[in-house]
Amino acid sequence: MSNDDGIFSPGLKSLAEVAAEFGEVRIVAPDVEQSAMGHAITIQKPLHIHATPIGDFEAYRVSGTPADCVALGIYHFGPVDLVVSGINIGYNLGNDIWHSGTVAAAKQASLLGIAAVAFSAHTEAHKDELAQLLSWVRRVLALLINDSAARLVNVNLPTYPKGLLWTRQSVRHYEGRIIPGEDPMGRKHYWFAARPGALPNEGTDRWAVQHELVSLTPLRLDLTDEALIEDAMRRMPVSV
Ligand code: MN
Repeated sequence: MSNDDGIFSPGLKSLAEVAAEFGEVRIVAPDVEQSAMGHAITIQKPLHIHATPIGDFEAYRVSGTPADCVALGIYHFGPVDLVVSGINIGYNLGNDIWHSGTVAAAKQASLLGIAAVAFSAHTEAHKDELAQLLSWVRRVLALLINDSAARLVNVNLPTYPKGLLWTRQSVRHYEGRIIPGEDPMGRKHYWFAARPGALPNEGTDRWAVQHELVSLTPLRLDLTDEALIEDAMRRMPVSV
């Protein structure tokens, strides 16, 4: 198990409690929050790993990114049957998937040939809300855990789910706005605030959570644009 909110996130412990019903759990997670770090890996400095039990769970904190944590966890504790990431405090829908460290932890497992599931919930999902989501986490894990075809799945939990839905990633142009400001010393600074720019299409991840459905999006690592490659070969033939 890993996450991007850091090893002390309540979402991580909640997910560990459900995951433990299905198998032996080990946690390897960032020592500090690594949200929106995407699939970054650490290559300019060494990584350190320290035992940091979380309740009764064997857990380790790492001075690196979510992807670093998963690579280190698999190195130390492999073979691993399944990597579970989250529960992130905040959805990872649509374009969030590009920036998410929660999803990157699952992607890193997938790159290493291991099945993985990323879980995210609403930012308001604190202790009580998380507790009532756990029966839905249990349903999702029971569904995915024995299905070898479900290699990499991004799961988003609305606060009060009514059901489950297989979805597509909602890819729309977003409002990636730069908002200028000034610090107390009068120095200029900037915030990068990304928001969805349009209403989501039916059947997408963002549509599902708006309709109080748990969104299950199967992801793939191959980003090739299949339609464009055919078109490009035809219109702009190249040869070696
Ligand atoms: Mn996060």
